[in-house]
Amino acid sequence: MKNKASLANKVLIALISGIIFGLIAHAFFPAGLNDFLIKWILNPVGSIFLRGIKMIVVPLVLCSLICGAASIGDVKKLGRVGGKIMVYYLLTTAFAVTIALIFANMVNPGLGLNLTLPTEYKAAEAPFIMDVFVNMIPTNPIESLVKGEMLQIIVFAIIFGVCLTLIGERVKPLLNTISHINEIMIKIIGIIMLTAPYGVFALISKVFISQGLEVLLPLIKYTVTILIVLLLQVLLVYGSALKFLGKVNPLKFFKKYWSVMIVAFSTSSSNATIPVNMDVCHKRLGVPESITSFTIPLGATVNMDGTAIMQGVAAVFIAQIFGLDLSLQQQLMIILTATLASIGTAGVPGAGIVMLAMVLQQVGIPLEGIAIVLSVDRLIDMCRTVVNVTGDAVGTVVVSNSEKELDLEVYNS
Ligand code: ASP
Repeated sequence: MKNKASLANKVLIALISGIIFGLIAHAFFPAGLNDFLIKWILNPVGSIFLRGIKMIVVPLVLCSLICGAASIGDVKKLGRVGGKIMVYYLLTTAFAVTIALIFANMVNPGLGLNLTLPTEYKAAEAPFIMDVFVNMIPTNPIESLVKGEMLQIIVFAIIFGVCLTLIGERVKPLLNTISHINEIMIKIIGIIMLTAPYGVFALISKVFISQGLEVLLPLIKYTVTILIVLLLQVLLVYGSALKFLGKVNPLKFFKKYWSVMIVAFSTSSSNATIPVNMDVCHKRLGVPESITSFTIPLGATVNMDGTAIMQGVAAVFIAQIFGLDLSLQQQLMIILTATLASIGTAGVPGAGIVMLAMVLQQVGIPLEGIAIVLSVDRLIDMCRTVVNVTGDAVGTVVVSNSEKELDLEVYNS
């Protein structure tokens, strides 16, 4: 335990020094030196860490979810946990966009801005939302594994796990083997996380060297609005969810959880954060693996409160730049589409901005506006990913306590 805490502290130190170093290098180092640092040191070190944690996401999700589904055994209970977590995920996302819209309407981040539109930007085509549901069923599970299609892997693993239990004794050796592979994956992530301080430093300082903070300036009101709503979501919504729904102490949660937040911040990817998120939820917050193996990968794919907040604020902001007034009906439409869009948003860097096209299109806001917010999206992506993964863990704690499965001794330790 002591070792863990000191690793978490090292990661925090890496984050802070990465930001400071990045800003100093951006401001004072010659461009040639910065290019050299990025190309020869920061890129390789950051990528090695990132690839390391991505390496185990697919096998970990597959094996742990098969074991999880098999160990819950009872299909009814699996359905109940699935139902509860989906309701929680959808409600908190709708709540997140609602706060974002209320706040953006108060602050009016886009009023009085005189921005010229970049003409060369072409928005990506918005996916059709029903396809997201249909595509959850894999036609070829091996292809889903190869491509890392998370929802398809989840569906296949659950069916596989449930069928293992339905057949029973005869296939027990296979279940044991899968559970051994799962253990190996967990060991691997423990080893990879030892390199996290270096990886986090490299990833973070690279962003700040190449961007600095001045990219934020023209859109400072937009950025600050999003940051405030993200903070409100974490403190108010998650704090109350833990206290009133989960009936646990929120402070304990955040004390143990911040190392996961740092990994989310530096990787900008909910998917890449799955292994650490599962690990902390299980070992430090006391959620049984049978639940984390299901709710965390699912959340990483379908629950994106931070992304929905960005989309809510961006919709109001872009509408204001174009001099459009959004009616109440249009705003309700934004809540609905941003909530649905979050289901279809992959947990990878920059995915949320692609889905923003879908939200804007639904209410007739010009897609060209995306080009404007794109310039600050790298940094906002880092922050919203923190909220995305935190929402998954809070939901996991809440649901597991409602099932009387949360180990309160571990949680409160
Ligand atoms: N990067 C975010 C995530 O992985 C998705 C997004 O772009 O909003 O959670």
